[in-house]
Amino acid sequence: MDSIADVTIIGAGPAGLQAAIHASRRKAKVTLIGKLTESALWKADVENYFGIQSATGQDILNTGLEQAKTFGTVFLEEEVTSLEKKEDGFVVNTDNGKSILSKSVVLAVGVSRKKLGAPGEKEFFGKGVSYCASCDAGFYKNKIVGVVGDGSEAGESAILLSKYASEVYWISPSRSVSQHMLDKVSQTSIKLIDKKVVEITGNNRVTGIKFEDGSNLILDGVFIALGAKGSMELALDLDIMPDIDGRIPVDADCKTSLDGVYACGDVTGKPYQVARAVGQGCIAGDNAAKFATK
Ligand SMILES: Cc1cc2nc3c(=O)[nH]c(=O)nc-3n(C[C@H](O)[C@H](O)[C@H](O)COP(=O)(O)OP(=O)(O)OC[C@H]3O[C@@H](n4cnc5c(N)ncnc54)[C@H](O)[C@@H]3O)c2cc1C
Repeated sequence: MDSIADVTIIGAGPAGLQAAIHASRRKAKVTLIGKLTESALWKADVENYFGIQSATGQDILNTGLEQAKTFGTVFLEEEVTSLEKKEDGFVVNTDNGKSILSKSVVLAVGVSRKKLGAPGEKEFFGKGVSYCASCDAGFYKNKIVGVVGDGSEAGESAILLSKYASEVYWISPSRSVSQHMLDKVSQTSIKLIDKKVVEITGNNRVTGIKFEDGSNLILDGVFIALGAKGSMELALDLDIMPDIDGRIPVDADCKTSLDGVYACGDVTGKPYQVARAVGQGCIAGDNAAKFATK
């Protein structure tokens, strides 16, 4: 174990930052993991948040992070690749190979289910196109699959699928993951392709993909994994059942169905607004700290 925390918050958007501020002010030992640049707010200009006439998302996020650090939050600009429930808490594993043992966890991962934007993606969704390896890997036993994406979610998805499929291709023209992730992938039979996908082809189902250079690859399934590991997969790691849209159900205390795990912000539902995210962040951070230090 690399470190021990009372509260680990996954996600550095408004919900996660507010949760970090409130949990740290309760004197809990808080680790915050995520990337400001990946927050939905990063590219926004905000004019509808109480007390702020106009501000850029970047300014709000940078200030929020400094506040959280001032109160003692430890910040890791990394991605969480898996969660495990243990008797004495939760193990949070990151793409840099770190493991943190935490008494409670706050999921504040937002709603990024990025689309590839290629022809065939929408048409074959559910017919060979999937956005969730942990949900659908079992359907691809002894089949040939491709995973499209540059980051840690794609790496993790490819590793998981290699336990089911007969062949796995990780397709990315600009792979950007930690050396730790590349080392893990090199210990599998996953084949790397550095080309850009321009089309997903098929008839009733996916039959392959077409690359920018005109070449084709025959596939039974295409997994699109364009970001960090999403809410659906992280929740499923802990046997928390997200709803059909991948939102995590919480009660008025921002508590999920599993003791010690809280969720806040866009990941719990609409409206997708900063005001709701910080409101829930405050509740989740407070309760996660109380749970961890009781
Ligand atoms: C263009 C645009 C304009 C907007 N304008 C406004 C506005 O004017 N007013 C308003 O109120 N709202 C606005 N919004 C909505 C607002 O940005 C969101 O409601 C808000 O950012 C949600 O906060 P969040 O913390 O729940 O999620 P996010 O801000 O999306 O943060 C999610 C965080 O989770 C992290 N994460 C995800 N997966 C992992 C993982 N596996 N490991 C580690 N970290 C992970 C990401 O790195 C990120 O830090 C706008 C959104 C967009 C896209």
